[in-house]
Amino acid sequence: MTYRTLDDIGDVAGKRVVVREDLNVPMADGRVTDDTRLRATVATVGELADRGAVVLVLAHFGRPKGQPDPTMSLALVTRAYEQVLGRPVRFVDWGSADEAVATMRPGDVAVLENTRFFAGEERNDPDVVDRLAALGDLYVNDAFSAAHRAHASTEGLAHRLPAFAGRAMETELGALEKALGKPEHPVAAVVGGAKVSTKLDVLKHLVGKVDHLIIGGGMANTFLAARGVNVGRSLCEHDLTDTAEAIMDAADRAGCTVHLPYDVVVATEFRPNPATRTVNVHEVAADEMILDVGPAAAEALGDVLKNCRTLVWNGPMGAFETPPFDAATVALARTAAALTGDGSLVSVAGGGDTVAALNQAGVADAFTFVSTAGGAFLEWMEGRELPGVAALAR
Ligand code: ADP
Ligand code: MG
Repeated sequence: MTYRTLDDIGDVAGKRVVVREDLNVPMADGRVTDDTRLRATVATVGELADRGAVVLVLAHFGRPKGQPDPTMSLALVTRAYEQVLGRPVRFVDWGSADEAVATMRPGDVAVLENTRFFAGEERNDPDVVDRLAALGDLYVNDAFSAAHRAHASTEGLAHRLPAFAGRAMETELGALEKALGKPEHPVAAVVGGAKVSTKLDVLKHLVGKVDHLIIGGGMANTFLAARGVNVGRSLCEHDLTDTAEAIMDAADRAGCTVHLPYDVVVATEFRPNPATRTVNVHEVAADEMILDVGPAAAEALGDVLKNCRTLVWNGPMGAFETPPFDAATVALARTAAALTGDGSLVSVAGGGDTVAALNQAGVADAFTFVSTAGGAFLEWMEGRELPGVAALAR
């Protein structure tokens, strides 16, 4: 798919550019606790302002039910945003948006109030699209993380104004294309996390795309059970063992090798630093839980990555939040990071807990690309077309 970027937008001096960003940051006690998403907008907003555009940032914040809610006003984020951008940011309420925008000068930046204060935003209502389109001459979508939703500000507007991908969107799409669109083979996918049921579509899509499918985390237990392993009291979806078998059969037919752990770390209690055993998967006792991939399997999986050119990763290998069950995730992440540093591997990872785990391993910056988009990243891994991205196609 090709789409237009800021390189194609032409002369923006004096033009009003409506930029959809992701400003949906976590807050506690009135403070932004993680400004990652704000930082991701700087390239696009800064460039447009430097090029003399009147920059109007559109975003949602929280989940107001289609009406104004002062606890979810983007006014709460504006000061923090100003600091991250390093330039003044005006906050504009919907009641006075037209007048406020008319007084803005080239290079000025404003944040418009929460788009979800309109009930029609999530329905992609043409009236809301009109309302937003009236404020701008050009539209830039820079929010990959919201692109799996066909909302007025993420999809509808792209059909109403000349539409372009922002820099963060461009980087994200480029990285994803390198990882699964036109990757260099062999390709490995690491899929972990708690449950098979939340990632069925991901697994089904990946077996047709990748050469090695590495399954870890709680979901590996369902696959082990399908192979006749007694997983004790482990998290396991016993009703999905047939599905797991069908996925392994599909992988076989597609020439995709499925890797399951052959040693595991088990405990009888799930709490920090309990007594643990490292055992072969066939030696799990009835009262034990599998909480991490074992060290031998983790090393063997690292060797699989050494023979691959591309890696796409979603989901931790174990219950990484609770020590010591982060060991396999950390070991494999460090191997992937080292191979990336050597230039032998393109590594792309995403998912809320996956990003947290890579940060915990201290290697998030050493991956080729780490996506902070949750739902959109998973839908992309499922091979689905994202409406907000499709609307940018030319
Ligand atoms: P992501 O947010 O990256 O998509 P998931 O939400 O699918 O990842 O999975 C992360 C969760 O899976 C973590 O909370 C982790 O503790 C849990 N998990 C991983 N392995 C196990 C396991 N063996 N038993 C129980 N929970 C596990
Ligand atoms: Mg999660």
